[in-house]
Amino acid sequence: MSSSGAEVVSSGVRPGQQNPADGSPLGELRWSTAAEVTAAIEKARAAQPGWAELSLDARAGKALLLARRIVERRAEIAKILSEETGRSLTECLMSEVVTGVGYAKGAIRAGRAALAPEKIKLSALEYPGKKVVVEAVPRGVIGIIAPWNYPLGNFMKSLYPALLSGNGVVLKPSEHTPRAGAWLAALCNEVFPPGLVQIVQGDGAIGQALLAGGVDGIVFTGSVATGKKVSVAAAERLIPASVELGGKDAAIVLADCDLVRTTAGIAFWAMHNCGQNCAGIERVYVEEAIADRFVEQLTKVCKAIRVNDDPSGAADAEIGPLQNAAQLAIVEAHVEEARQRGAAILCGGARTGKGLGYQATVVDKCDESMRVVSEETFGPVVAVIRVKDADEAIRRANDSRYGLNGSVWTSNLERGAALARRLEVGVALVNNHAFTGILPETPWTGVRDTGTGVAASRHAYPTFVRRRTVVVDSNKDPEPFWLPSTPELTALADTVAQLQLGSLGAAFRALGLIKKRVAAIKKLAGG
Ligand code: NAD
Repeated sequence: MSSSGAEVVSSGVRPGQQNPADGSPLGELRWSTAAEVTAAIEKARAAQPGWAELSLDARAGKALLLARRIVERRAEIAKILSEETGRSLTECLMSEVVTGVGYAKGAIRAGRAALAPEKIKLSALEYPGKKVVVEAVPRGVIGIIAPWNYPLGNFMKSLYPALLSGNGVVLKPSEHTPRAGAWLAALCNEVFPPGLVQIVQGDGAIGQALLAGGVDGIVFTGSVATGKKVSVAAAERLIPASVELGGKDAAIVLADCDLVRTTAGIAFWAMHNCGQNCAGIERVYVEEAIADRFVEQLTKVCKAIRVNDDPSGAADAEIGPLQNAAQLAIVEAHVEEARQRGAAILCGGARTGKGLGYQATVVDKCDESMRVVSEETFGPVVAVIRVKDADEAIRRANDSRYGLNGSVWTSNLERGAALARRLEVGVALVNNHAFTGILPETPWTGVRDTGTGVAASRHAYPTFVRRRTVVVDSNKDPEPFWLPSTPELTALADTVAQLQLGSLGAAFRALGLIKKRVAAIKKLAGG
């Protein structure tokens, strides 16, 4: 892997070297040094100006080519993703690979909207002869620091806008899943000008080295604690940081919902990717009137979920194991605490016994005293909280430090939409959840500890471009407010104020005053 610091070498034991499905070894990857991080930034910086000079059409063409290559070589990347995360090949393909070309096309549409020069209309009376355009200028080199839950997908949402804007990029995969990023960087090297996309490998120290090393903007996806550190480091350097952090998504199930679709949807979005999804449904507030039937059906679906333990990824399992032992420990602690505090474990609640596998778990009769309700679990666990009515559900759902997605499940769509708007979240849905995370034109964002970042869509671009206002003035006369100050300037000030308030007569008075002012200014300047 050129300049990647990702060659296979043997050194001490580090994270990311075992397949979590069965613990089988994956080989070791060398981590970058701080000096290599600086060198990677400089290489990307050297390649960036040539890339920025290309037209947006040319850059978009290359972005689409990258997407096509990823989909063409899907078997390769699915194998890597499966090995690093323990998920089945099919699950890796479905969640991170096969929709890649459509995603790139949407990202390009969003890019065209965000990057188009904007002409500003000015009043010919107040600002004669002036043309003003606001342009998007690439920031330079963008660092992208990713977590381990979607080792490819988490890069793509930022890689496209960064490159379409004309930036160079340095990728920093999670130390738990370094291989997917290395594969992506190598492919980028084939598609884009050499050096434009770099990769550095390692843990938080390498993430900090990336921030200190001179990147011009940073996209961070990961935990709240790290997101705060990244924000502080970026603030010290006065570079933009987009931080997208944790979640504890709530679903509200109303008594009038379509129980079959609701159960199937909530089971999927609670257990997808073994619950290691920032927008996984972790809390369900269900109206008492339907609660017994809902939990019965949810438990039936979740009991049928198979956890992959086949290191080849070929088996037909719905979910993988937890990706790493630390995450498994959090899941176990949350479930154990809920059990001890009197919650009912309706299914799961235990490891599978192979690798880092944990059974899909439904916990009923939960309340806010339990971490399974108040903290991010990030595992295959769904907590059910029984409520009197929708108002109680909304109030309790909003009582959270997080707010990414939130959903209301009901057959009354109008009421559902009104209730969904009362959820304090970045993405509010009726009868669905989280799927907009793979849409390139909708902002993925949240409130409170979920962070201020916006991933995807034209609204993500402030991290990738700065705005430049360009003015061309063809006015032959000096501006009437320039030096010197005369009684006509005082009169003009009053006339302008009257103009602002809608006086038509003021426009004529202004023209006369402007003439006098221009003459006075020309006289002073020697004309
Ligand atoms: P993490 O914060 O431990 O690590 C994320 C990345 O930051 C890794 O690459 C890590 O090496 C790096 N890092 C660690 N310390 C750093 C430091 N001091 N400076 C710079 N970089 C540093 O998070 P994780 O455990 O890998 O990911 C799980 C979290 O990510 C969950 O909370 C999940 O909700 C969140 N997440 C959020 C979204 C979203 O869109 N909001 C998407 C995916 C995951």
